[in-house]
Amino acid sequence: MKKLALHWQILIGMVLGLVFGFIMLQVGGKDFTVDWIKPIGSIFVKLLKLIAIPLILASLIKGISDLKDISKFKNIGLRTIVTYVFTTVIAISIGLLLVNTFNPGNGVSDETIEKLTQTYSTNSSVQGKIAEASKQKESGPLQFLEDMVPDNAFSALSDNGLMLQVIFFSIFLGISMLLIGEEKSKPLKDIFDSLNDVVLKMVDLIMLTAPVAVFALLANVVVSSDDPDILLALIKYAGVVLLGLVLMIVFYCVLVGTITKKNPFWFLQQISPAQLLAFSTSSSAATLPVTMERVEEHIGVDKEVSSFVLPVGATINMDGTSLYQAVAAVFIFQALGLELTFADQITIVLTALLASIGSAAVPGAGMVMLVIVLESVGMPAELLPIGLALIFAVDRPLDMCRTVVNVTGDATVSMLVAKSVGKLGDPKVKNWDDHYDEVK
Ligand code: ASP
Repeated sequence: MKKLALHWQILIGMVLGLVFGFIMLQVGGKDFTVDWIKPIGSIFVKLLKLIAIPLILASLIKGISDLKDISKFKNIGLRTIVTYVFTTVIAISIGLLLVNTFNPGNGVSDETIEKLTQTYSTNSSVQGKIAEASKQKESGPLQFLEDMVPDNAFSALSDNGLMLQVIFFSIFLGISMLLIGEEKSKPLKDIFDSLNDVVLKMVDLIMLTAPVAVFALLANVVVSSDDPDILLALIKYAGVVLLGLVLMIVFYCVLVGTITKKNPFWFLQQISPAQLLAFSTSSSAATLPVTMERVEEHIGVDKEVSSFVLPVGATINMDGTSLYQAVAAVFIFQALGLELTFADQITIVLTALLASIGSAAVPGAGMVMLVIVLESVGMPAELLPIGLALIFAVDRPLDMCRTVVNVTGDATVSMLVAKSVGKLGDPKVKNWDDHYDEVK
């Protein structure tokens, strides 16, 4: 019997997880789900995070040391950053256009605002996000550059939150390997080449459990979700964010179709396991190993490009998050009856761009940076908890959807950059069980 494609298996796992979650809610099985089902999903996410740093290290060093000259790398770097900024500005503009057209904040009644404020404004998560944002804000303008440079390679490698430091170290090491010449760097290069192959195999093995893991992740999302009445009150706002996210996917398809000349449906199909995982985990960092595997093996982007573009993208390119921040900021101002001028909207474009770069690639990070966006357009500090309370109830489902866009954006840009430097080839799919018989 022909085996069902991975994305179908994952999709079935997701649907069953949702159904199971709803049934558990009806029969009072929330504790059962949290105690017995949730850990399966958490283990899966941990496994993905476990291999993220070895993968970035090995693949970036391999990618760079395969280059024949360093100027190529400068070329790729510049194109990547410019394209990332371009897609993010488009995302924010789409968000602002939609929220100003549909005005979802104008219809929110005073009772709803009251109810949401009472339920969430003193909530520890909301307060935690405001506190975290104020910590981020205190840093100086060049702090981000300083933060990128590690003072200890091993402590950088031991913290998933320090991805940019790992990228910095790997690039530095890779370039130095190029400079000492092929003969001398060969032993080290062989180690990283081999590590890279092994880690990609680990991705394959982890992905075998994906259908069951997404079942657990989604069942847990459902049993931990909020009162459906509250979700309904925010349906218009959520609808605008979702419409924007869908338009972003269409935009990526247009870019893929016109610039790389590949069929956009084929692209979506190849990248779909990464998208489904992004949806289930709400974390582009956890999804990164799968995104890399799909883009390299199933789409045909050369490692020289993907090993740089994708890890950098997972940390700094968040089109879905920036679109959401633009919509959420304007929605909150509308709902609270506060004025936003045209100049304020331009400020939103700039701060949401910087905020999405600064957001960590983990669940809920976009909301922390939203606080900074709100403050930049003059939201009084005492209204911040109320503002966040207004959107908190739907944040998780929207986070799941915006993470899909974040990951799709990274994959799209890797194709565009690869095409522009002649590094977009044919897929070279490797199956998970290549040598299974030999080791049995
Ligand atoms: N969860 C998102 C990501 O990892 C970030 C966010 O929007 O909260 O890409």
